[in-house]
Amino acid sequence: MITERVKQQFIDIVGAENYDDSKAGRLVYSYDATPNFQSLPDAVIAPRNTKEVSDIVKICNEERIPIVPRGSGTNLCAGTCPTEGGIVLLFKHMNRILEIDEENLTVTVQPGVITLDLIQAVEAKGLFYPPDPSSMKISTIGGNINENSGGLRGLKYGVTRDYVMGLEVVLASGDIIRTGGKLAKDVAGYDLTRLFVGSEGTLGIITEATLKLIPMPETKQTMLALYEDLEAAARSVSTIIANKIIPTTLEFLDQPTLQVVESFVNIGLPTDVKAVLLIEQDGSKEVVARDMEAMARICREQRAISVQVAKTEEEANNLRTARRSALSALARLKPTTILEDATVPRSQIANMVKAINDIAQKYNVTICTFGHAGDGNLHPTCPTDVRDKDELHRVEQAFEDIFAKAIELGGTITGEHGVGVMKAPYLEWKLGKEGIAAMKAIKQALDPNNIMNPGKVFAKSTRKRVVVTR
Ligand SMILES: Cc1cc2nc3c(=O)[nH]c(=O)nc-3n(C[C@H](O)[C@H](O)[C@H](O)COP(=O)(O)OP(=O)(O)OC[C@H]3O[C@@H](n4cnc5c(N)ncnc54)[C@H](O)[C@@H]3O)c2cc1C
Repeated sequence: MITERVKQQFIDIVGAENYDDSKAGRLVYSYDATPNFQSLPDAVIAPRNTKEVSDIVKICNEERIPIVPRGSGTNLCAGTCPTEGGIVLLFKHMNRILEIDEENLTVTVQPGVITLDLIQAVEAKGLFYPPDPSSMKISTIGGNINENSGGLRGLKYGVTRDYVMGLEVVLASGDIIRTGGKLAKDVAGYDLTRLFVGSEGTLGIITEATLKLIPMPETKQTMLALYEDLEAAARSVSTIIANKIIPTTLEFLDQPTLQVVESFVNIGLPTDVKAVLLIEQDGSKEVVARDMEAMARICREQRAISVQVAKTEEEANNLRTARRSALSALARLKPTTILEDATVPRSQIANMVKAINDIAQKYNVTICTFGHAGDGNLHPTCPTDVRDKDELHRVEQAFEDIFAKAIELGGTITGEHGVGVMKAPYLEWKLGKEGIAAMKAIKQALDPNNIMNPGKVFAKSTRKRVVVTR
């Protein structure tokens, strides 16, 4: 609840044009890409600089007003749903690339910069920022950092965390701190940079980030391996890695996903096969040629029925775009799309794919699976309808079984989408009570009044662990 006095204080900081408590304005920011968690904020505020962020946070801390920092709202864990009301903080004015430093190979940005804009700006200078979530056309760097997002190039190049060198953060007290910086080596004190990466807006507000760049790889090649057997595709993934080849991209799509994606993108993808692997390698011409040949051989040995190398960059780009559009394509099937990201060690991919299919059958639900197979990160996705309560209940049970199976195989409940509200009841399955207590101690120390994105990451109660019997 924001009183007239506090409202006036916010307006004095950002100007009336950047404060919105109209019903329509609040409605727009009451939901994100996650189905079923809609909740109205009390107001939406768009600060123009770090000082304004700090001034707003000081008031919120004093008045105990929840703050939900929001990039583009594409997270899939209800991380930006204002489930406890309060203000939504937008970074639409803080969206500048501040510096591309070619001597230190860094780029410094404000949190509202769109990921693809950053990638293209550095590529224009022959530099490379590898983290490329499929949502990169709309996602922001602030969101990427707070979810520690991955992408198609994660297998070889790592995830967002591996590129964050320094941060400017507004703490819950309103204090502004700087962590890390442009230094390649810096062990002065605790690694606070890493602490804030993946913290889902619950520890502080990121107002600036310095990110690592690397030189653009000389060349790259793309191929598609087709399979009539899901497990053969999954086995190819672990065999490629076991042969000490780390491709840039090693993505998996099952037949139901392929069929939907093809009807969305219309580029002639095969729809009669059970699974495909999208494989890419980059680097020097010699290394790329050698690795592509070896991976094609491995795929054939693992019973791929066909292995086709893209002949042109346009063809390769079409394949990448098709993979990136998997979620959007699946979202056309039914009113509600629930996408998960259970992750297992790469060696367990085949077992996990099989388990997902068995679980879908057990609960009589449709689950299409695609994902970053090389990272062990699968996206079992269920087209459903929240109005069909009976089906929704079965879908929830199926996903519970999937999380339990992932953990049983040595995996985790989320590889890149974060915990938010959605996965909070399962976090203890992964961390144990002691792990949760350690994290809560950090949260309590940095945000004693629990104003920073409250209700996220920590659940009021943990789901009873299911026993997967298969
Ligand atoms: C079609 C589609 C494809 C996707 N593909 C991928 C993928 O390949 N890989 C992947 O990892 N994810 C993927 N995602 C999930 C999502 O896009 C990522 O999590 C992305 O990083 C979110 O960015 P955003 O700007 O939308 O952030 P939001 O969704 O707005 O916010 C994400 C989190 O960051 C916090 N936050 C945002 N800005 C700040 C800030 N400045 N300071 C503090 N906290 C902040 C929010 O409170 C929230 O907890 C996909 C989502 C969609 C819809």
